[in-house]
Amino acid sequence: MYNPNDPKLKSWVSVESTSDFPIQNLPFGVFQKNDKVAVGVAIGSMVLDLSLLWKEGFFSEIFPSQEENIFAHSSLNAFMNCGKEIWQKTRTRISQLLEAGSSELHDHAVKEEALVTLDEVKMLLPIKVGNFVDFYSSIEHATNIGSMFRPDNPLMPNWRHLPVGYNGRASSVIPSGTPIKRPKGQTKADDAENPTFGPSRLFDMELEMGFIIGKGNDLGSSISTKDAPDHVFGMVLLNDWSSRDIQKWEYVPLGPFLGKSFATSISPWVVTLDALEPFLVDGPTQEPAVLPHLQYEGKGNYDIHLEAYLQGEKMEASERITKTNFRLMYWNMQQQLAHQTSNGTNTQAGDLYGSGTVSGTTPDSLGSFLELSWRGTRPLKFPNGEERKFIQDNDTITLKGWCQGEGYRVGFGECSGKVLAAD
Ligand code: CA
Repeated sequence: MYNPNDPKLKSWVSVESTSDFPIQNLPFGVFQKNDKVAVGVAIGSMVLDLSLLWKEGFFSEIFPSQEENIFAHSSLNAFMNCGKEIWQKTRTRISQLLEAGSSELHDHAVKEEALVTLDEVKMLLPIKVGNFVDFYSSIEHATNIGSMFRPDNPLMPNWRHLPVGYNGRASSVIPSGTPIKRPKGQTKADDAENPTFGPSRLFDMELEMGFIIGKGNDLGSSISTKDAPDHVFGMVLLNDWSSRDIQKWEYVPLGPFLGKSFATSISPWVVTLDALEPFLVDGPTQEPAVLPHLQYEGKGNYDIHLEAYLQGEKMEASERITKTNFRLMYWNMQQQLAHQTSNGTNTQAGDLYGSGTVSGTTPDSLGSFLELSWRGTRPLKFPNGEERKFIQDNDTITLKGWCQGEGYRVGFGECSGKVLAAD
């Protein structure tokens, strides 16, 4: 049987060995070229326009009764809602069309119009986000934050028993490249008697991964850890922009609200769980043992190398500020989705779940400025002499991530955002 993850596969589209988008990846996204918006797949430095391939009948065997062009859409939601079998057949079909030696698309007249360079297109938000939830599933991150504010008791008693999360805001999820205006809000200095209103002074990023529901569950039903991977379409890079001074004053007792709701950036290419399958790894041991409905079998984590960069307006280059790995996460996606639905909550195509900040065990592997500068006590130093405790106006933050195979990488591209001054 044809294996689209075969490391030996090559495409007739040229792909450099350091490209995030070899034939083993084939991530889905939504692009705009002039007035046209459509679903595409990335291959090397090109985008393959799936809506044109649909028109030519390339997918007619996969969607025999579907008349409407499912790729002539401004989001992946309709395609995702078709379910895992269709996702897999579609990705396999695209792989076969792009495989070196295959002539069906290579020799077809539509090829010239259907393959456009990434430079020619604008990448849009790939999904219509129904709901956004953010977890808090890195034990390193939770312990760091906890130890800053509760030195004697960094992890709350519930933390090892359930994946802590909160309901975030869907309407402000934005694609990479969209600028972020520094939020204003209510803050209160420790020694001040009353709060004041104004631009946030402690503006931060959070380096995260996000997973996207492809096929949801009905109200009143639950998804088991075993079935969870069938409901997840794929993953993106996610930056949970955070205003620490607003957050600090508002979060007790109901959690984050305006300190985070103003913007969440995601990368535009959704890497399917199928493409990530070769990079599954064992997760950390969970002690004490979790309750039965959160137990899982097999490998639950993914080996995804993650990096974040900062470029200020006076810096000549983007400077790496951290590198870490997603494999460290204490709670995995299966457990997060099982937990979310354990009370009968329904999910739907386009729901987005953030992993929580991914922090490693060393000072150079932390996923937020709050940790990197340890509440501002150890500023980051840059080659041009500048320092940062938190993010300044006109700084651009870029997240990158990839899985390293032998001779190829399955990558996520970039999740980038420039911070603009408050009004
Ligand atoms: Ca977060």
